[in-house]
Amino acid sequence: MITENIIGKKTSALGDKTTVAYNPKTNDQLEGTFCVATPEEVTQAVSIANTAWPQFKRLTGIQRAEFLEAIADEIEDLGDDLVERVMLESGLPAGRVKGERGRTCGQLRLFAQVLREGSWVNAVIDTGDADRKPIPKPDIRKMVSSIGPVVIFTASNFPLAFSTAGGDTASALAAGCPVIVKAHESHLGTNALVSQAIQKAAIKTNMPDGVFSSLVGSGYSLGEQLVQHPLIKGVAFTGSHRGGVALFNLANDRDEPIPVFAEMGSVNPIFMTPEYIQAHSQELAVGIAGSVNLGAGQFCTNPGLLITIENSQTNKFINHLVEAFADLKASSMLNTSIRNNYLSGRKRAKFTTGVHTEFESLPDDNYSAPPAIYSTNANVFFNNPFLHNEIFGPTSILIKCKSIAEMVEVTNNLKGQLTGSIFMEPNAQDQYKILANTLEERVGRLIYNGFPTGVEVGYAMQHGGPYPATTDSRYTSVGTDAIYRFVRPIAFQNCPAAFLPEELKNENPRGILRKVNGVITKDNS
Ligand code: NAP
Repeated sequence: MITENIIGKKTSALGDKTTVAYNPKTNDQLEGTFCVATPEEVTQAVSIANTAWPQFKRLTGIQRAEFLEAIADEIEDLGDDLVERVMLESGLPAGRVKGERGRTCGQLRLFAQVLREGSWVNAVIDTGDADRKPIPKPDIRKMVSSIGPVVIFTASNFPLAFSTAGGDTASALAAGCPVIVKAHESHLGTNALVSQAIQKAAIKTNMPDGVFSSLVGSGYSLGEQLVQHPLIKGVAFTGSHRGGVALFNLANDRDEPIPVFAEMGSVNPIFMTPEYIQAHSQELAVGIAGSVNLGAGQFCTNPGLLITIENSQTNKFINHLVEAFADLKASSMLNTSIRNNYLSGRKRAKFTTGVHTEFESLPDDNYSAPPAIYSTNANVFFNNPFLHNEIFGPTSILIKCKSIAEMVEVTNNLKGQLTGSIFMEPNAQDQYKILANTLEERVGRLIYNGFPTGVEVGYAMQHGGPYPATTDSRYTSVGTDAIYRFVRPIAFQNCPAAFLPEELKNENPRGILRKVNGVITKDNS
């Protein structure tokens, strides 16, 4: 069966090139053939997105909420067909896929709630004063408004929750931006099913034609055309550093540069204090092993660096860590290229002078990710930039420091991270204040006595961090604030009441929280 690209409310197959999907475990070709989008189809998808935009952004929050809820319903209606296809294309187990489906629908419904409540637009009103001396004060009212059509590059490692209807798409649609998805070649069938669900939801809820399109093709041709198209106003991406930086540069080289929100990974250091290790050695070792091996280590929050102070307790802890790693089961990786990158990354770490192998299981098939732990000292870490990079898979490098001061120096040498964790005992916290303060400057989320994997989707989550974790540390790609990537502030000065958006009218018809003359209130202005 040939699956066509989705362009608004239609499907399209203008080109003669097709592509197929593979099972990462068996390397067998899976059912289905997918049409590769042509440049003409790119133009069509972008033009109808641009035509849909003015109407889409002016829909009420409730109308866009109904669309997001309908998408979640349609995804759930796909039932086991979706679960089975995701499993075949990703090698992920049923439990994980069902959990991810729940997270995906939960995210869509959470953004719907945000829209229904309405205060997310950050309405600010400074009322005018014609009698102010020496000059009258103008009436200025500000809120955020969507930036226009955006391109979403779907991630390989979350075929549902960071993919076609994932957090990026949900937040962009919630903001009022039409979305064009560039499907990930690792899960083409999954993308087709979810894209059809979104298309159905758009038709059912009477969305303007063009609010969603989904195109298949290679990053280098399709992705570049999309990012360079003058009507595209923003980009969201999750994946490799190389891919994210390429898209960022492309977007900045345009006549009109546009924002690229690229989430490119991180080594998520875990600092383990001696007092904590002494009190919880085995429990900590088991927790770390589980976090490193979760999802075959294919999470952007995977802990890739473990930092501690060398002493007799540490040696005992390493024994516990080795035991915990020996109990791990290797899981399959998402695709052959990710697996090859993983195996070559850990080989390069292993053969760095001054790095010791503490535990390493070897591949016994062609698809799974055998876990490993290597160790070294701070000097070797400082002198080998490669050890600062993400090894995407279940490998972690333990750095043995001589002192707390050296731990702080390691922190100062870290690049920007999504997360950083510190394990410490309540009665031995004071001496780690500088470490915590230094780490805070490097990360988007600072975790105490907990592991970085398992990213809660909520109002307070920050899933972003200083470069190179992301291209813009001011934003998050998980949680409700992800919506702010796709809006810009607009102020209305001395605007006639009839022209004001509902959210800025005196009588506050939406009943939202606003800042009126410096005071947060739901009152009239
Ligand atoms: P990727 O190679 O960065 O690709 C992600 C998406 O971006 C794909 O759709 C890809 O298209 C597109 N793309 C990549 N480079 C591009 C470019 N220069 N121009 C236009 N489009 C481009 O990531 P991946 O395939 O998911 O995995 C590869 C590696 O990325 C992994 O081994 C891992 O190291 C890292 N990764 C990190 C995270 C994280 O969260 N930290 C997540 C996933 C992957 P094509 O596939 O068509 O080229």
